[in-house]
Amino acid sequence: MNTSDLVNLRRPALWFVCGSQHLYGPEPLAQVAEHARIIAAALDGSPDIALKVVSKGVMTTSEEIRALALAANADPDCAGLMLWMHTFSPSKMWIGGMVSLHKPFVHLHTQFDRELPWDSIDMDYMNLNQSAHGDRETGSLHTRMRLERKVVVGHWSDPEVQTRLGVWARAAWAWSDWQGAKIARFGDNMRNVGITEGDKVSAELKLGYSVNTFAVGDLASRMEAVPEGEIDALIGAYLHEYEVAPELLPGAARHDSLRSGARLEAGMRAFLQEGGFVAFTDTFEDLHGLRQLPGLATQRLMQEGYGFGGEGDWKAAALVRAMKVMACGLPGGASFMEDYTYHLEPGNHLVLGSHMLEVCPSIAATKPRLEVHPLGIGGKEDPVRLVFDARLGHAVNASLIDLGSRFRLIVNEVESVEHPALPKLPVARSVWKCSPDFKTACAAWIHAGGAHHTGYSYAVTVEHLEDFAAMAGIELAVIGEGTQLRSFREGLRLNDLYYLLAQGLRA
Ligand code: MN
Repeated sequence: MNTSDLVNLRRPALWFVCGSQHLYGPEPLAQVAEHARIIAAALDGSPDIALKVVSKGVMTTSEEIRALALAANADPDCAGLMLWMHTFSPSKMWIGGMVSLHKPFVHLHTQFDRELPWDSIDMDYMNLNQSAHGDRETGSLHTRMRLERKVVVGHWSDPEVQTRLGVWARAAWAWSDWQGAKIARFGDNMRNVGITEGDKVSAELKLGYSVNTFAVGDLASRMEAVPEGEIDALIGAYLHEYEVAPELLPGAARHDSLRSGARLEAGMRAFLQEGGFVAFTDTFEDLHGLRQLPGLATQRLMQEGYGFGGEGDWKAAALVRAMKVMACGLPGGASFMEDYTYHLEPGNHLVLGSHMLEVCPSIAATKPRLEVHPLGIGGKEDPVRLVFDARLGHAVNASLIDLGSRFRLIVNEVESVEHPALPKLPVARSVWKCSPDFKTACAAWIHAGGAHHTGYSYAVTVEHLEDFAAMAGIELAVIGEGTQLRSFREGLRLNDLYYLLAQGLRA
C-alpha cells in the first residue's frame, strides 16, 4: 500500500527565511537573497525533506518579520519556518515577530560557501558571509525567549544536515496535522482503567486536537446503511490482499462473519470520512448494535492512516496518527501496540507485543492471514482479524501520558527479533528486545509512568519524537542505549520541577 497517501492528510510547506539588515546596501542584499533562494531550492529538491520548501526572501526590518510571523500563523499550509542569518541580523528586530510566531521553527546554522577561498578572501567576503556570528546573535534571542527549536549545524549540502532537517520536517508535518484535528470516540474507556483517562480540554489547549464521543448506535446505523455491493467489493479486496481462511470464503460455513466484518469496515470508514476524523477509539465494553468487535476493520482503517487506540485510549489514537504522519511514505509502518506478555528466559528477556485484534498491517513482514476466532471477552460474535508477524529490526515504542498537570512522551528503543512459531495465537504480533536491556527499560518505563498502550514504528525514530515533543512543549523521556536507571529517575524529578516552573498554572 502506498502510505504516502494517508487519509485526510494535507502536505503543507516549510518557509525558508533568511535574516539580514540594511547596513550592507542593495548589492550585498541582492546577493544574500540569491543565496537564500539557492539554498531553499536545494532543500526543496532534497529527497530527505518530504515537504516543499518555499523561499520567503530576506528579512531586513522588524515590520517585515512581524508580518511574516503573522502570515505564517494564518496559513494552514505553513507547517513551520527554517531560519538562517546569512549576515548579521540584529536580534531586537526579531523580537516582535518571534513573540507573535506560533509555528515551529528550526534554526539552520549554515553558510553559503562550503569552503573558505583562502587565496582570495577579503573584507567584502567576510562582510557577506557572517552566519558564524549572525546566527549566534539570533540564537541568543531564541534562548532568552526560551523558544523551543531545533538547531541544525553544517553546510546545507551536507547529507547529514538535510537528513536532520528532514526529520524535523516530518515532526512539523505531524504537528501541523494535529492542529484542529478531530478524534472520534465510540464508547468511553474501559471501566476503571487509569492510564487511558486524561484531560481532553488540556489536550486541545496544548496539543491542538479535539476528542469527542459519538454514540455507538449512530455508528451501528451507519453500518446498516452500507449497500451489499460495497460489501461485495470489500470481500473481493480481501481475497486479493490476504490469505483468507477457507471457512471464510464465499459459500463456506463462516462467510457470514466475513461479510459482517466488511460491513463494520465500510460503516466505520463512512462515519469517519463524513466527520473528517483522523483517529478513533472503541471499546469492547460498548458495542451496542455491533455484531463483532471491529478487528479487521480497525486494522485496515489504521493502514489507511487513521490513528487508533483500544479501550477508549484517545491519547494512544492521537499518537498513532502522529507517528503515521511522521512515517508517511517511509518503509516500516506504524501501529497501535500493547506490551502484552513476557518471555523471561535468563539472558534472553523478550516482550511479546500485540493487542486483542488491532495491530496495523503496515508493520507486517508477510502477507496477513484473514481468520476468525473467538475473542473470550465482550460477549459478541467471533471477530474476523488479520494475523501476521511484524517485520524484524529497530523500532520505537512510544507512550503519551497525562500526568495530571501536563503531558509526557516516553519512548523506548527496541529491536524486533525472530521468534518461534505461534501456531495457536490468532493475533498479529511483534516480539522485541528492549534497549538498553529488558530490566532497565521496564523499570524506567514504569518509573516514567508509561502506559501499556503505545505507538510502535520502524520508520519513526527517537529524533522524530524529540523534535515533535519540542514543538508540543512537552517532556520527552527516552529509554535506549546508555540509559541508566538512577540518572533517568533524576531526570524525571528535575523535569517535574522544570515544567512546573516553566508553565506555571497553565494547562
Ligand atoms: Mn489494550
